[in-house]
Amino acid sequence: MQTAKAVFTNLFKINGANSCEVCGNEYEHCFEVRMNGEAHLFDCFECAIHALAPRCIRCGCQVVGHGVEAAGGIYCGTHCARQNGVTAPMEQSISERSQT
Ligand SMILES: [Zn+2]
Ligand SMILES: [Zn+2]
Repeated sequence: MQTAKAVFTNLFKINGANSCEVCGNEYEHCFEVRMNGEAHLFDCFECAIHALAPRCIRCGCQVVGHGVEAAGGIYCGTHCARQNGVTAPMEQSISERSQT
C-alpha cells in the first residue's frame, strides 16, 4: 500500500521535496493551487500567477484581479475590452467602479 507521501511524490513527480513547478525551488512551504481540477505546486504567489493567471487578450498583461470577461475572452479591464470593440454590458473592473 502506498503511503500518503508516496502518492504525493508521485502526483508531482518530485523526489521527497516540494518543488515549485515554475522555478523548481525546493521549499517546504510550497502550496497547492487547483485549477480546472488540476493541482499545481508553487513556492510563491508570483510563480503561481506566472503559471496560472490568464492574459488580457488585448495588451497581454496578466490578469491578477477580477478582470473583465467579454465575448471573445478575458481583458485586464473595461478599457482594453472597449479598445477591442466590446460594447456589450460588462462587469466593471474595480478601478473603474470607484471612479463613477
Ligand atoms: Zn517558484
Ligand atoms: Zn489589457
